[in-house]
Amino acid sequence: MSIGLFPGSFDPPSLGHVDIIRRAAAQCEILYVGIAENSEKRSAFSSLEKRQMLERVCADISNVRVVTFPGLVVEFAKEHQVNFLIRGLRAFSDFEYEFRMALANRKLTGIETLFLMADPNLAHISSTLLKDIAKHGTHLTGFIPDTIEPLVYERLNS
Ligand code: ADP
Repeated sequence: MSIGLFPGSFDPPSLGHVDIIRRAAAQCEILYVGIAENSEKRSAFSSLEKRQMLERVCADISNVRVVTFPGLVVEFAKEHQVNFLIRGLRAFSDFEYEFRMALANRKLTGIETLFLMADPNLAHISSTLLKDIAKHGTHLTGFIPDTIEPLVYERLNS
């Protein structure tokens, strides 16, 4: 059984995340989408809200399990027999951080990280950009799934 884990903040989930989830889910039998509960990072959305949004936008991908985890990615991975981590790579700016994290996680437990290149049509999407756009009164159509757009726009615009 091949089990993958795609960890992230998902604050909020975007079309870029959903693209990575869909492509990663096609490569394993179970894909955990893991919401990191990092108390030091100020989030616009609670873990419960993120979980509900991710469950909604992944409802048609049968092997995806949305979970939240409080500690280290590698702890969750060990407890749930995860074979590999998945991360998305947008641009060179992602590379240095991702490279360090992948090396640290491999050093800690031997787990490998597999990278999927961002879809060129979605590679510009980031949580920071979404927050900026909504703050200035523009809707997020084309950036996040339509089913969660009203909720996300309302929160980020207020
Ligand atoms: P983190 O705070 O852990 O980086 P994010 O939610 O920002 O969490 O990102 C989670 C993962 O999703 C990362 O691997 C990131 O590179 C990837 N990602 C974010 N936005 C996109 C996008 N537009 N296209 C592809 N991958 C993305």
